[in-house]
Amino acid sequence: MKKGSDYFGENVFDDRVMKAVLSAKVYASLKHTIDEGQSLDPGVADAVALAMKDWAVSKGATHFTHWFQPLTGITAEKHDGFITPSPDGGVIMEFSGKELIKGEPDASSFPSGGLRATFEARGYTAWDPTSYAFIKGKTLCIPTAFCSYGGHALDKKTPLLRSMEALNKQALRVLRLFGNTTAKYVRSSVGPEQEYFLISKEMYDKRPDLRFTGRTLFGAKPPKGQEMDDHYFGAIKPKVAEFMEDLNDELWKLGIMAKTEHNEVAPAQHELAPIYTTTNVATDHNQLTMEIMQKTAAKHGLVCLLHEKPFAGVNGSGKHNNWSIATSEGQNLLSPGETPYENAQFLLFLCAVIKAVDDYQDLLRISVATAGNDHRLGANEAPPAVISMFLGDELNAVLEAIETDTPYKGAEKTQMKLGVDVLPKFNRDTTDRNRTSPFAFTGNKFEFRMLGSSNSIACANIMLNAAVAESLKVYADRLEGADDFETALHDMIKKTIKDHKRIIFNGNGYDDAWIKEATEVRGLLNFRTTADCMPHLLDKKNVDMLTSHKVFTVDELRSRRDIMLENYCKTVTIEANTMVDMANTQIAPAVSDFTSHVASCAQTKKALDPSINCEYEIKLAGKLSALTDRIASGVSGLQDALISLHGAKDIIAESELVRDNILPKMCELRLACDEAETLTAKGYWPFPSYGDILFSVK
Ligand code: ADP
Ligand code: MG
Repeated sequence: MKKGSDYFGENVFDDRVMKAVLSAKVYASLKHTIDEGQSLDPGVADAVALAMKDWAVSKGATHFTHWFQPLTGITAEKHDGFITPSPDGGVIMEFSGKELIKGEPDASSFPSGGLRATFEARGYTAWDPTSYAFIKGKTLCIPTAFCSYGGHALDKKTPLLRSMEALNKQALRVLRLFGNTTAKYVRSSVGPEQEYFLISKEMYDKRPDLRFTGRTLFGAKPPKGQEMDDHYFGAIKPKVAEFMEDLNDELWKLGIMAKTEHNEVAPAQHELAPIYTTTNVATDHNQLTMEIMQKTAAKHGLVCLLHEKPFAGVNGSGKHNNWSIATSEGQNLLSPGETPYENAQFLLFLCAVIKAVDDYQDLLRISVATAGNDHRLGANEAPPAVISMFLGDELNAVLEAIETDTPYKGAEKTQMKLGVDVLPKFNRDTTDRNRTSPFAFTGNKFEFRMLGSSNSIACANIMLNAAVAESLKVYADRLEGADDFETALHDMIKKTIKDHKRIIFNGNGYDDAWIKEATEVRGLLNFRTTADCMPHLLDKKNVDMLTSHKVFTVDELRSRRDIMLENYCKTVTIEANTMVDMANTQIAPAVSDFTSHVASCAQTKKALDPSINCEYEIKLAGKLSALTDRIASGVSGLQDALISLHGAKDIIAESELVRDNILPKMCELRLACDEAETLTAKGYWPFPSYGDILFSVK
């Protein structure tokens, strides 16, 4: 049997392959580009392209593609054959440095939010050498950034790389102040934990809502849901185990370090976590993971649902974005150090994150906002739409001691002053994890838990990197000009704690009392929906910060706001239309049929014996009739709401109508239909129930 270590990364043009197939000179030059962002020598590009093509062809590849991440949130690829006609009438396999570095896909159908006039249909893709090329099927995939000819980013990778650069620049400034002269770069790393549902394909095919929208739009609660907590970490069913094994193999071949797999809280829900890696690679890998999950499920007669809320009343799926920052020398800047000096540096980076999360709560919320994720955030499940941070008891005590100039219990010296010589050594937090916090410190990294399961992790990390870069910039500006570094450092940490402690919350984030306190006492933001938060992307403070770090231009921000709002409106409109269709053509007719069956039962009984009063049938038929009427009026109410969208003057107004008219009308219609489901004989109901779907995989 093949060992995992034998085939791990076998489809990746990774460092091992590069070392083996490139000349020492070309390898060194490429490595320079990868590690330090130096621009690539064109001669080197030709040599790399040739080696990459030979390697790919030897593995059976016939095509190549520039693989990119347009604003649709999924990945895109356009395949080109390697073949070029040769003079003797045959073909040769060719691939040039030019083709490696730059592509020109006809991109007129990708969303650009007005960034690219339609006459300027062609965008271009540019190779990202920091993420390895890989083979998928018979195609060599080259990770690329996607821009318009005017230079505007039309994708998620470009701003992500820019945000990493911003963070790198500011973090290095701070490190130099602490005497670190050797770190070449600072990068953020991410390990995203991916949740998903697995259901049988047979059930899926029978549900138009799942097929068209990825979630169930109807469905009465099953008698058994997740209340027994018997699924979480439970034994993995054989069919699921086979799927996981196959998935693992596929991911490993692509160099994706899938590490942990377990059942999640809801029935049919599972999780996969890879080992963390550099943020842009982690983002590429997460996109690939989602794609391979769906493909692998199909091979096993299953469907992998990545929607945030496939089933009402059952936990939804999210993605935990474990984030940290480290130097080129491997020092994790969010890890408490061994010496007081290191701890002072750690505290400053910690404060940078605290300040960033408080100052840019809105951007973090925006970064995870989609119609799907709105069903989790701000609904009755975790995490809430209010952003707060959990630090744990130990760190809280340290911060409190600094803020109040009082002794810290762990300190050897009595007075807690953050002069590096007096800062106490403290250890990693040993307190229990807080699972309800949207943004939790977990010892040497932060876990941002608000991402939706289908979100690209690029968006959250762009905002996180940029906001932390901004804090670090403020600190570096101040410290570089300080006469007395240690006093300035101490004062700044103290000021950050004072100014931003409102964002720190260690209690239960699901509690209604917390939402009240957060919004009314602490003044934290609570954007329940995408329509609520998205317009704030263009708030002056956000535009100023993001443009000053060159993460986005104003035009790029405007385009993203519009695209995200359009996406919200389209998603909900498709759901509403699907509901109308299912209610009209499947549900109402089924309920009518069953009603007439019940009525004819009563008639038959009466014909047999006129003295039978048929109480059951008459009551039931009455209830069903009333429900059919409610369904009919629910449908017309929803249709009217859909028509009202045409009157919206712009996308913001349309998104508000979606939030205020369409979504509530969808709930009304659903309620009537779900109630009808509980009263209709199973044989009459047109599609599988929640119970059928959730327990469909053995
Ligand atoms: P959990 O208890 O939440 O499952 P784990 O320790 O299993 O936590 O880690 C979850 C994820 O966090 C994994 O993807 C892991 O690789 C990642 N992770 C661990 N350390 C770091 C770090 N320093 N920076 C970023 N991610 C990390
Ligand atoms: Mg976790």
